[in-house]
Amino acid sequence: MIRKFIFSNKCCICSKTLNNNSYYICSNCKKKLSKKIYLRKFKNIYFLSKYDSDIKSIIKAYKFYNKKYIGFLLAFLIKKELHKIIEINNINLILPVPISNEKKIIRGFNQIEYILELLNIKYHKINRTKNTYPMSLLKNINARQLNIKSSFSIPFNTSNKNILIIDDIITTGSTIKEIKKEILKKGKPNSIFIFSLAVAKSFDKNIFSI
Ligand SMILES: [Zn+2]
Repeated sequence: MIRKFIFSNKCCICSKTLNNNSYYICSNCKKKLSKKIYLRKFKNIYFLSKYDSDIKSIIKAYKFYNKKYIGFLLAFLIKKELHKIIEINNINLILPVPISNEKKIIRGFNQIEYILELLNIKYHKINRTKNTYPMSLLKNINARQLNIKSSFSIPFNTSNKNILIIDDIITTGSTIKEIKKEILKKGKPNSIFIFSLAVAKSFDKNIFSI
């Protein structure tokens, strides 16, 4: 009974009412999702899924409707693969993409940091130095690049580190590119990898170089 007060009793993908054995997601959607989610790698970018309508529903509910409990589902979905990436690449510096202070006030939490905390994974914070226009509203790659330019600052040295930047969705890669610039200003890392839950459907391997 208590569960109903804390969690929604509707599936976060299809909105079907959940039975007592399901949390967050119904058994049909869970089955469908488990087939779609697997670790993919392109150059230095790891990702688990394309940003299709199911993933969109989950991330949207988590981020925009403040359903913080969905973080448990996402943590469960990425746990195994994220640990694998950290181990294989000897990652010793994890950097979640920061959200603007404005968003943090509205949402109350950074969606990536919260998942890492649930998974007991240590991370370092990058500072967000300006409140940008929401990237999700900017479709044009140049507009996105300009919007995010010089938005981050890293208050520590990045030399000799194996770095993993973590984000939820990669759309054009503008945010990651800016963070990478800042990392390189602060030292000479051994390697930089990126992990994202999903990449936009328009993710184009030919134009994508971050
Ligand atoms: Zn469902």
